Amino acid sequence: MPVKLSEILNENGIIAGPCSAESRSQLFKTTEGLVAQGINIIRAGIWKPRTRPNSFEGLGETALPWLRELKEKYPVKTATEVASSQHVALALQHDVNILWVGARTTVSPFLIEEISESLAGSDIPVMIKNPINADESLWIGAIERFLKKGINNIGLIHRGFSTYKSARYRNLPHWQIALDVKSAFPELPMVCDPSHIGGKKQYLREIAQKAYDLNFDGLMIETHCNPDLALSDKEQQITPEELKELLRSLKKRSTSSEDSSYTAHLEELRDKIDHLDHQIIESIISRLQLVDAIGLYKKKNNVSIFQLERLNEILKSRKEWSNPHGVPSDFVEELFKLIHHYSVKRQNNIFKSTK
Ligand code: PEP
Ligand code: MN
Repeated sequence: MPVKLSEILNENGIIAGPCSAESRSQLFKTTEGLVAQGINIIRAGIWKPRTRPNSFEGLGETALPWLRELKEKYPVKTATEVASSQHVALALQHDVNILWVGARTTVSPFLIEEISESLAGSDIPVMIKNPINADESLWIGAIERFLKKGINNIGLIHRGFSTYKSARYRNLPHWQIALDVKSAFPELPMVCDPSHIGGKKQYLREIAQKAYDLNFDGLMIETHCNPDLALSDKEQQITPEELKELLRSLKKRSTSSEDSSYTAHLEELRDKIDHLDHQIIESIISRLQLVDAIGLYKKKNNVSIFQLERLNEILKSRKEWSNPHGVPSDFVEELFKLIHHYSVKRQNNIFKSTK
């Protein structure tokens, strides 16, 4: 009988196991190590969506009976990736406990439709990874398609977004996208997959800690009994013992504290923030009044609304004012571009509406 994903994750929130099931002994040895660390949700890729052909593409059906055998030997639940209705049927036949939809599948509304259709009426937990490209709506759309089919036992996996630029991590986290999606579906648990974000084992700790700091509901971490021999994602997999060390080093945060002096101090600081935000809004209102006055003045003098030199000057001076105080340029640029963009829109309306 399928259980609510949030309840399964409540135990310790960790899903671990190999990127791919490569052999019976690799799967059993890895699981044995994980069970010894208190892990009870084992992931293993059966069908692997690889970027290039001729890479290891998973063992397919051959490996599915091993997932069932794992449950007979160990007190674990199993999880695997499905990318078609045929995968769903086979995974269900072999009593896999949790299914997940990979990043390359979330990008395709056709596939999501097909998979959600094949799951309609089933209560098996399904986890939806974010799409590979940084498109929040595509992720939301996939979630909505499952919900529309009455599939509510859903969880989300944040695994980062690919980039063509060279970057520290294999995939860019874009934490804000994950947080926005979490706010849109507060009832759905969201775990972070530091393995696919980092791409290298040395980044797992910092990414996992950040996820805990942001109040994620758990972690999915690729674990292999012998990562050096892994047939896929070898650089990001760690041993069960390394996982134990990693988890031990992480600080879990709680969403609130019972301590009354903590609460009182937080309230005091939040009051100050409210006050400052109020001042920011008042400043924006005064600024918009000036923007409107300038709009009218430009119109009267038959001068165009947008002047690039003025925008450049605004961005340059605001960065100079903020940088010495440690406010980064990219933040200032984004903020003032947004303000400027809206100012231009207001002046446009003035040009349209006044004679
Ligand atoms: C995986 O979890 O092994 C996987 C293929 O992940 P993603 O879909 O995030 O690339
Ligand atoms: Mn992988």
